[in-house]
Amino acid sequence: MKPFPDTSPGASGLALREGLLFGRGSPGRRGTDLPAAGVPEAEPAAELPAELLRAEIDGLPELSEPEVVRHFVRLSQWNYAIDSGPYPLGSCTMKYNPKSAEAAARLPGFAAAHPLLPEEDCQGALALGFALERALCEITGLAAATLQPAAGAHGELCGMLMVRAYHVARGNPRKKVLVPDSAHGTNPATATLAGYQAVEIASGPDGVVTPAAIAGALDEDVAALMLTNPNTLGIFERNVREIATLLHEKGALLYNDGANLNALAGVARPGDMGVDVMHINLHKTFGTPHGGGGPGSGPVAVALPLVPFLPVPTIRRAGDGFALDFDRPQSIGRLRTFWGNFGMWVRAYALLREWGPDGLRRAAQLAVLNANYLRQLLSPAYHLPYSAPTLHEVVFSDKLQKAHGVSALDVAKRLIDHGFHPPTIYFPLVVSGALMLEPTETESPETVEALAAALLAIAAEAAEDPAALHAAPTRTLVRRVDEVRAARKPVLRWHPKPR
Ligand SMILES: *Cc1c(COP(=O)(O)O)cnc(C)c1O
Repeated sequence: MKPFPDTSPGASGLALREGLLFGRGSPGRRGTDLPAAGVPEAEPAAELPAELLRAEIDGLPELSEPEVVRHFVRLSQWNYAIDSGPYPLGSCTMKYNPKSAEAAARLPGFAAAHPLLPEEDCQGALALGFALERALCEITGLAAATLQPAAGAHGELCGMLMVRAYHVARGNPRKKVLVPDSAHGTNPATATLAGYQAVEIASGPDGVVTPAAIAGALDEDVAALMLTNPNTLGIFERNVREIATLLHEKGALLYNDGANLNALAGVARPGDMGVDVMHINLHKTFGTPHGGGGPGSGPVAVALPLVPFLPVPTIRRAGDGFALDFDRPQSIGRLRTFWGNFGMWVRAYALLREWGPDGLRRAAQLAVLNANYLRQLLSPAYHLPYSAPTLHEVVFSDKLQKAHGVSALDVAKRLIDHGFHPPTIYFPLVVSGALMLEPTETESPETVEALAAALLAIAAEAAEDPAALHAAPTRTLVRRVDEVRAARKPVLRWHPKPR
């Protein structure tokens, strides 16, 4: 392997091998050994319904506390996190999550609030929800918002169900939803789930949707266009106002996939561009943690004509305080149990208060600056399929490396050896062999330079020693896995006894 640039953190150091817990321990071994409580022990069989009881659990290991703690700590040390280094996973917006927001979310009044508290006992939580909704309306330029959806895709469903309810209220739900070919896969999926036929729109040669393409597909059966702006190539859809006018003239609505709001927040407002409804990923734009399947939050903001359809309950002012409003006859109903991922609201609100409007604008500007710095540093060695200026993320392709038999996957895997998380690869689908990088505003110029130095070293390695790249990563405990087999024949259950 070629030596790394000095600025590559390089995957090395102490990572301990760790196997499964099954088959370890010994019968009767316990985590904690408390003295007898002096009250009769509850019998699970008497307390729980029979269908929840299992006669025996096959092979469940009995372990001490250190065995369990070390197992999970060792596994966690195999992993890479935003707290260990930059995570340039384009489209996902993996930014550092400030600990001040974590501290706010852990305040006992927030963290321990029970979702069944009566309104008068959770006025603080309602006030926070109300203030966050107002802030999101201000940032998006829209009239009202719901915080209920659990993530971006759930927000899309919420938004498109409102689109349907709006058209139903006007007498015809319509049949089709237009989705550009550069869209995130959730967009056509959402359109389908909401009962529409997704119609693909080809983006123009410079990566943006043209008014002509929309006009060509538009008729009285189109309920909405789902547009991501800036789009998944990181390019601003500069025709958005003209497209909004075309849609509105035909009675259709403009849905904005707002997952990339981090490029615009504090600078420009989708509502001012003619957007009728959009979701916002708090876990992308406002620095609430994500990855690892943790909870997200996908609030949806709407223009005035869609307000009656917001999910119940909404939060409204009541005298000096706040109340939950269930009396909304045109609402699409509830989207989930309880109110939403409240801890995410607290983190996002804390961050907004910490930054203020100027900080928000500066975050968007720095995100764009970092992405463009990376674009500049890498463009001598990586092919840029679109020359249009990009905002918060930049998409390269593996075309130049392909000439040496090196793919986007090989580049991504070698980057792990350098101690960096790989970028998003093979998305968006409109770019063959895509490498999609999003440094976010939280990385310093030195970190962006170090990431670029590693990628430039990999491009040089691709030209000089392509075979070495096919073996990457070589410095990690888990090497290159058989991804096809993992997807086609997943082993989801470990059997303690050999079959
Ligand atoms: C992330 C993303 C989504 C989906 O959001 P989730 O919170 O992951 O459900 C939708 N569209 C775009 C453009 C995205 O980047």
